[in-house]
Formats: sequence, structure tokens, C-alpha cells
Amino acid sequence: MNPILEIRELHKSYAGQPALRGIDFSVSRGQIISVLGPSGCGKSTLLQLIAGLQQPDGGEVRLRGEAVSTASKLVPPEKRNINMVFQDYALWPHMSILDNISYGLKRKKASSADIRAKVGELLRLLHLEPFAERLPAQLSGGQQQRVAIARALATQPDLLLLDEPMSNLDMRLRIEMRTELSYLLRKLGTTVFHVTHDPEEAFAMADRLVIMRSGGIDQIDRPEACYRRPATASVASLLGAGNRLAGPIAEGGAAPAIRLDGAFVAGRTASDWSARGPAEPAIALFRPDAAAWETEDARASDPGAEVAAGAEAGIADSREAGFFAAPAFNRLAARIAHSAFEGNRWRVLAETGTGDMLSLFHHEPLKAGTRGWLRFPVDETYLYPATAGSER
Ligand code: ADP
Repeated sequence: MNPILEIRELHKSYAGQPALRGIDFSVSRGQIISVLGPSGCGKSTLLQLIAGLQQPDGGEVRLRGEAVSTASKLVPPEKRNINMVFQDYALWPHMSILDNISYGLKRKKASSADIRAKVGELLRLLHLEPFAERLPAQLSGGQQQRVAIARALATQPDLLLLDEPMSNLDMRLRIEMRTELSYLLRKLGTTVFHVTHDPEEAFAMADRLVIMRSGGIDQIDRPEACYRRPATASVASLLGAGNRLAGPIAEGGAAPAIRLDGAFVAGRTASDWSARGPAEPAIALFRPDAAAWETEDARASDPGAEVAAGAEAGIADSREAGFFAAPAFNRLAARIAHSAFEGNRWRVLAETGTGDMLSLFHHEPLKAGTRGWLRFPVDETYLYPATAGSER
């Protein structure tokens, strides 16, 4: 099937500073794409180029097969069958909710019967029926957002652009809305290009994630694939792998690993790992959620502990100790530094022998000074060569 939107080799600079460095991807009909990345990575620039609000320096934007933005051609926004929901919703303040939603259909000279039917359906789907006669200022932020979405959907655009659509909602409403919106957009079969800096919002919304950094794309994949197999250190950090250990690449083990002052930390590798040799600097990243705390008592009663024992701190001569049989877990000796209450769990800081401060979650606070082991699965530890891009 032909894609609705194609982005090819898109380049854009501001006063000589590149904001987009050759972006490529496409979106098929009915697909929801979320573009995720930190502030300044080029998300808004990309959105504006797709909307026709800015012109690229090179490459092209194609809609339904037609080139609409190139360095020499710019189809104006109103001539693209695209609608956008802005961060501040941009509702017309003097028009009722009904008129706001009907506006596009009236401009397109739809019949009054069509307008009534279409707008009636959207009021119902977005739970806005009780507010049809009110003005935008008489609605809450969440209700205004639903009006902006209804208005954008009324004319059935080829593509809906969502620019940080939840940024003005409080946290509870944000969580509710992203799930509801993801359900509604799928039910309507809308093709969506969604931009956010919030990974959870992107996960909840997207069929496919485009993860950007510094004007380029680090990874395009399904949300779960990006989460399980982050292609770069910056994707891993962005998607929650906040624990970081640094050390040289270990030599000759059954699993790729880094060496940490006598201990090994084994993990999964991404494509740029194989080009690196032993002793080159590298980092290991893992999520606090993946880590568990073990004391001597717990280890003694855990039959699986023996298998992975070689990966723990202090085993320098580990050839016989199990590490070279590809362990399932990494274990690092550590000391509890602090526990902080987070509602349904405690976030605990533990300091390793190498002075690294690592986070884990626990169901109760752990006493500062307690010694034990931080255990985390090799499968959920991500190894990357230490390059400029792996800095946090
Ligand atoms: P994001 O939406 O991911 O925060 P932007 O697309 O807004 O990123 O910005 C990408 C880069 O381009 C940033 O370095 C930003 O400072 C720069 N930039 C964005 N818009 C302009 C502009 N109108 N003039 C000059 N520089 C800009």
C-alpha cells in the first residue's frame, strides 16, 4: 500500500546550524507514528515542514505520493489535507464549541445534514455533548483539548498532526487522555504524526516510534522493540535505563561484557559493538526496574544464584567461576545509601565498590549502610561503546 506520508532525506538549517540532518521514514494509512526525542532534537522543525509552515533546504515531504515540500516547491498548509492540534489548542474564543467543530466542514461547503451528522458523532465520541453551546473559556483544559481534537478530525484529513497534545494537562488527565485518544484514533482509522518528549505518551499512542537526537534518527521501530532493544545509549537513557556503569570491553567471555574493577557486567549489544575490540571504553546501562536487592541470606536460599556467581564483584579470575557460561544475571556488591518513598514503592540508592551510585526499586525502605548485592538480568543490560553520543 502506498504510504500517506513520505519523508526523504529532509534537511533544514537555521542560520547555518543544522536542525534536521537527512531524515527518512514513511507513514502508511491508519498508522500512528510518534516522534520522540529531547528538547532541541528537531521534532517541531520536522512537524512544521510536514505542515508546510516551513520550507526544507533539501529533500522532500510527499503526501499521498505528491511532493508538497522541497527546496523549490511549497504547497501552502491550507492546500494540504492535513489538520493539526496545537499545544495551546488555538480554539476560536468567540465561537461556541459546536461552531468551532463545524467550522472546517462549513468552509468545505458540506451540506447541513452532513455537518449535523459528523459533528454530532464527534461530540458523542469525545464526550462533549453537554458543552456544545458553551464558549471555549467556559471549559476545562481537558475539555478544550477534546474540542481541538474533534475540530481537527471533523474534515477527515489525510493526516492528523499532534504537537505535544498533552503538555497542558495535569498528570492524571494526561494518562487518561493518552489511552482514550489512542483508542479513538484507531477506531476512526486516522493516520497520525504525533510529536512528544514524553516516552510514556509515545508508548501509549504509537504503532511505531521515531526516536530523534540532534537532528537525526537513532531508531525507528515498534515501541516494545525500542524499549527492549534500544539501538543507542541515548535511546536507552531516554527510555529509562538510568543506571550507568563504565569500563573497558572484557575479553574472551561467552557473553559480551565490560570489566569493572574485578567484576564483569554482561549485556546485550547493539550493532556498533562488533566493530570494537577488547579494552576499548564502553558503558553498560540498565533500568532501576530491572534491578533487585539481595542479601547474604536471600542468596543462600536462591538455587539460581550459583549460576551467575561469576559475574559478581571481586571475582577477577572468573574462568572457572561461571561467568564464561553466559550468566543470566549480573551481580554487583553494593552498600545501601538512601531510600526515598514514591507511593507504591521505594526508590533505593546503592553505592558499588567502584563508587557508582545505582537506583533500584524495593517494596520497603532499606537501611542505609546495609551491604548486599544488586542483581540485574543480563538480558536487560545494554552495552554500548563509549562515544560522544553515549554521554547523558
Ligand atoms: P524540538 O521541537 O525537538 O525541541 P526544534 O525543532 O524546535 O526542536 O529545534 C531544533 C533546533 O533548531 C534547536 O537547536 C533550535 O534551537 C533550533 N531552532 C528551532 N527553530 C528555530 C528558529 N526559528 N530559528 C533558529 N533556530 C531554531
